[in-house]
Amino acid sequence: MTLAYLGLGANLGDARQTLKDAVVCLAQHSGLTVVAKSGFYRSAPVDAGGDDYMNAVVAIETSLAAARLLALCLAIEHHFGRERPFRNAPRTLDLDILLYGDDIIDTADLCVPHPRMTQRAFVLVPLVEVSPDIVIPGLGRAADFVAAVSDQRIERVDLGQCRIPNRVPSS
Ligand code: ADP
Ligand code: MG
Repeated sequence: MTLAYLGLGANLGDARQTLKDAVVCLAQHSGLTVVAKSGFYRSAPVDAGGDDYMNAVVAIETSLAAARLLALCLAIEHHFGRERPFRNAPRTLDLDILLYGDDIIDTADLCVPHPRMTQRAFVLVPLVEVSPDIVIPGLGRAADFVAAVSDQRIERVDLGQCRIPNRVPSS
């Protein structure tokens, strides 16, 4: 089993409801268990126009290989009506693999740790909420990158959270 972290974002339609439904969708898959989820955050679009985003991060334990997990994320995005008219376009749902255990993956279809995660408050803040001491393989503690993105507007809009336990069962 691998402990992985997924970033969710949406800024089209009922974004908050979509994120909730997407987590349910993930949880129903037999290949993974949702072990922690952050609260919801409202954030300003980065490198894009459009409405504010709703963001969250979930931690999962999964038996899926990283490529299979990416395929699942893309299928769930599709299920929620994701379209890609242009780069960084507004989206009904974005579901990214942030971390996949300690793996460093660099293929045409999948880069993990997610390449831009250390530059995005909407990833770092909810990630550190669910796992305050999380280390980004090859880069260091996620918490140490938060100060540098403090100019990005983000606010927590929901109190429902559960932190990842200090010790996660390895299997
Ligand atoms: P972005 O999330 O950067 O706005 P998209 O959601 O449109 O971009 O994803 C485009 C492609 O990025 C996906 O089809 C996938 O192959 C690739 N990709 C590379 N690394 C990752 C990752 N860690 N998580 C999700 N998608 C990734
Ligand atoms: Mg994406």
